[in-house]
Amino acid sequence: MSVRQYGNWVDGDWLKPADDRPIERWSPAHGALLATFANSAFAEVDAAVAAARRAFQNSEIWSDLAGSERAHLISKWLDLIAADAERLASMEAEETGKPIRFARGEIAWSIELGRYAAALAWQIPGEALSHIGAPNFGLVTRTPRGVIGMIVPWNFPMVTLFQKLPFALAAGCTCVIKPSELTSGTALEVAALAAKAGLPPGVINVVTGTGATVGEALIDHPDVQMISFTGSTAVGKKIARRAGEQLKRVGLELGGKAANVVFGDADIDAALDGALLGYVLNQGEECVQGSRLIVEERIADEFVERLTARSGAVRVGMPLDEATDMGALIHEQHMNKVLGYIETGKREGARLAFGGQRITANGLEKGCFVAPTIFARVRPEMTLFRDEIFGPVLSVTSFRTTEEAVALANDTKYGLGNGLWTKDVDKALMVSKKLRSGTVYVNTYLETAVQLPFGGVGQSGLGRENGLEGLLEFMDVKSTFVKLGKRPDALPHARS
Ligand code: NAD
Repeated sequence: MSVRQYGNWVDGDWLKPADDRPIERWSPAHGALLATFANSAFAEVDAAVAAARRAFQNSEIWSDLAGSERAHLISKWLDLIAADAERLASMEAEETGKPIRFARGEIAWSIELGRYAAALAWQIPGEALSHIGAPNFGLVTRTPRGVIGMIVPWNFPMVTLFQKLPFALAAGCTCVIKPSELTSGTALEVAALAAKAGLPPGVINVVTGTGATVGEALIDHPDVQMISFTGSTAVGKKIARRAGEQLKRVGLELGGKAANVVFGDADIDAALDGALLGYVLNQGEECVQGSRLIVEERIADEFVERLTARSGAVRVGMPLDEATDMGALIHEQHMNKVLGYIETGKREGARLAFGGQRITANGLEKGCFVAPTIFARVRPEMTLFRDEIFGPVLSVTSFRTTEEAVALANDTKYGLGNGLWTKDVDKALMVSKKLRSGTVYVNTYLETAVQLPFGGVGQSGLGRENGLEGLLEFMDVKSTFVKLGKRPDALPHARS
């Protein structure tokens, strides 16, 4: 297998890294070297920001194009991504460790987000106010913010980027992207495809490297107007503090600890499907992972028994194997952290109902594979209930009343997503109103539409992506007050 070697993508071309000690990405599934990425520093960030700034300031290049022209170029680019989807999906699967089937879904969903964002460029909303006093006229218009620094994580490298990038482009912004140092391949590849589609140089730039160098240089750079970040709550807080020093805007998509609430009157088969997908999808490395199953007491034992049986059928295997349902965790250190949480769960007295171990059989010995794991009788004070584990570990807690279910679901500092299952429409709507999160899935899990905004409350973040809100995040509001006819004298005595 050949090793992919990358420089940075700056001003419409590959920029050779100044540092000749690149970041190596080793497969988390079988240990082979997959790719090398530039270990960049301030100079590369500065070059990329300068290119993005030129592309933004020369408004004929991007920001002053008609929205429809930007939409056409974005659409052409998405066509090229679609034509290259299989190669991109393989890279994504290899670098993240996720199954190829789901990597394909990730690329397809990213394209869907892009097509929607491109369509929004046709009709960027504004307002005209003609009832603000007879001789007056008001306009509320929106302008692109400028150069956006985008910092994204490794769990969904394409989707987390495409919840930002096409929306910012549609708004007329230009950008510098810092992908995760573990999974930079697809961001670099799609940036190069943008040039082939005719997007002007400097509109999209990608600089790879660590958070401490490239990430912080982006935050500090005076010509970057906004940081749009997806990642952990701990790093999000650091970024908010650093950006706050300069009153720089931030969008923060952070961690989560979603509850999946199952009432006794639910369609139990559907709820079992949702509970299973909710905790094993993407090896549990999922910000809205349904990691806390909160189930009505009268059905709890049987539900856990059936979920255990289904978990036993999940095929853990190599990312590129078409049969694989769950692949490898991102790296050894993370796998050990997840296994550590499993030990903590046992020590704190939760009942291990399924899994709980690393998998090394059948050729998986070199990889970071952990079995789907279920803990029953988890109490709210336990670590399993409180921490974002980011692995295929489910905790089950039971409730008797609806009020108790809501209180348990809301007993977390996070507030990204929650799910609920019931056939009672009244109960579904009343409970969904009370759940404290940016998204609620009713009788489904992890299913949504590009038109629906996504984001968190509490420690899950600030701002929204997707939907119209996702576009407006990248725009400033401008008010224009127009006096029609003669202006009355405010200070007549001062007239000469
Ligand atoms: P992370 O916070 O460790 O890293 C995210 C990105 O930030 C990486 O590119 C990293 O290099 C960079 N970074 C690290 N330190 C930095 C610093 N000091 N300054 C600037 N940049 C810095 O997160 P991760 O481990 O890559 O991803 C997992 C986390 O992401 C989980 O907590 C998960 O819930 C969250 N996540 C949230 C969403 C969402 O939409 N809310 C989506 C996916 C993942």
